[in-house]
Amino acid sequence: MAKNIFVFCEQRDGQIQNVALELLGVARELAEKTGEKVNAVLLGHGVTDKADELIAHGADTVYVVDHENLEKFVTEPYAQAMTHIARKYEPSVILFGATSIGRDLAPRLSARLRTGLTADCTKLEMDEEGNLFMTRPAFGGNLFATIICPDHRPQMSTVRPGVMKKLEADPARVGEVVAESVEWDASKFAVTVLEEVKAEKGEANIEDAKILVSCGRGVKNLESAHELASKIKGSAVSSSRTLVDAGLMDHERQVGQTGKTVRPEAYLAFGISGAIQHLAGMEESEFIVAVNTDKNAPIFKVANLGIVADAEAVFKNLNKLL
Ligand SMILES: Cc1cc2nc3c(=O)[nH]c(=O)nc-3n(C[C@H](O)[C@H](O)[C@H](O)COP(=O)(O)OP(=O)(O)OC[C@H]3O[C@@H](n4cnc5c(N)ncnc54)[C@H](O)[C@@H]3O)c2cc1C
Repeated sequence: MAKNIFVFCEQRDGQIQNVALELLGVARELAEKTGEKVNAVLLGHGVTDKADELIAHGADTVYVVDHENLEKFVTEPYAQAMTHIARKYEPSVILFGATSIGRDLAPRLSARLRTGLTADCTKLEMDEEGNLFMTRPAFGGNLFATIICPDHRPQMSTVRPGVMKKLEADPARVGEVVAESVEWDASKFAVTVLEEVKAEKGEANIEDAKILVSCGRGVKNLESAHELASKIKGSAVSSSRTLVDAGLMDHERQVGQTGKTVRPEAYLAFGISGAIQHLAGMEESEFIVAVNTDKNAPIFKVANLGIVADAEAVFKNLNKLL
C-alpha cells in the first residue's frame, strides 16, 4: 500500500536548494494529519554528506543515489533514479520544487508511474485519509483551482519556490540515511552534458535576496532603485508586473501571482499600489515598507511601515545616507 511523503531534494553543485527545505517543512505539516513519515530523496554525485542537512530540516529517512550518472542534472538518469525509488517504496505523495529541474523531472516520473501531477502549486493540504488537496492559480491567475488525485498513487505535485516555510534546522534531529543503487538502462541516455556555461552573475535571484527593493509604476527612475540595492548587502531589485509589461524589467524579477513568490526579511515597495495579484507574491515577507504618494493605496494595509512620499525623494535620501 502506498505510504509516506517523499520530497525530491534538489541540489545544484552540491548545494541543497532552499525549495527542498521548504518542501520538507510543508511535508512535515501534511504528515501530521496521517502519521506518515517524511522521506527525502537526494540524487547527485558526492552528495551523501548533505543528507544530515535534510534530516535537520525535517526528513525522517534520506534515500541517496550517489552516482557519477547524476553528476549534472540530465533528465533520463534522474528519471530512472526517481522511478527506482518510487517503485521500490511506493510513496503516497511525491513533492518537487517548481524549478526548471522539478518541472522537467516530475512529468517524466508521473508518466512512468501512470499517475497525475499538479504543477506549480501554491498551497497543499491533506485530510486524515491521506488525500492531498493541491491548489494552484488557474486561468491566468484569475482563480485558484484545488485538484485531487483520488484514484492513483503517488499523488504528485510541483510547488513554487518561496511559498512554503522551511523549518529551523535542528542538528539534534535523528534520521536514517539509506544508500540506493539503481540498475541503469544506459541505452536510454541520449543526452550528455559536454560543458556548462554559467550566466554572468548580476544581482541576486529575487527568491534568495534578504532584502528586496521592489518598484512599481510610481518609480520613474529605476537607476535609483539599483543604486540603493547595490548599497544594501544581500538585496536585489524586483518589480510589479507593470514594469515587466512595459519591458523595463525582466520577468525573472516580477513578484506576484504570475511572477515569483518571495519571503524576504524586508520588502521595500516603492510606487506599488498593492493589487491583490501583487500581494499574493509578497505578503508573507517578514517586514514590509511601502512608499507611495497616495495615502489610501492598498499596499499600506499590509505594510509594517508606510511612508506617504515621492519614491524618487526617498531613494535620493537613502542613497545619500548609505
Ligand atoms: C491575471 C492577472 C495576474 C496578474 N499578476 C500580477 C503579478 O504577478 N504581479 C503584479 O505585480 N501584478 C499582477 N497583475 C497586475 C495587477 O493587477 C496590477 O495591475 C499591478 O500589480 C499594478 O502594478 P503597480 O502597483 O506597479 O501599478 P499601479 O497599480 O498603477 O500603481 C502605481 C502606484 O504608484 C503610486 N505612485 C505614483 N507616483 C508615485 C511616486 N512618484 N512616488 C510613489 N508612489 C507613486 C500610485 O499612487 C499607485 O499606488 C496581474 C493582473 C491579472 C489580471
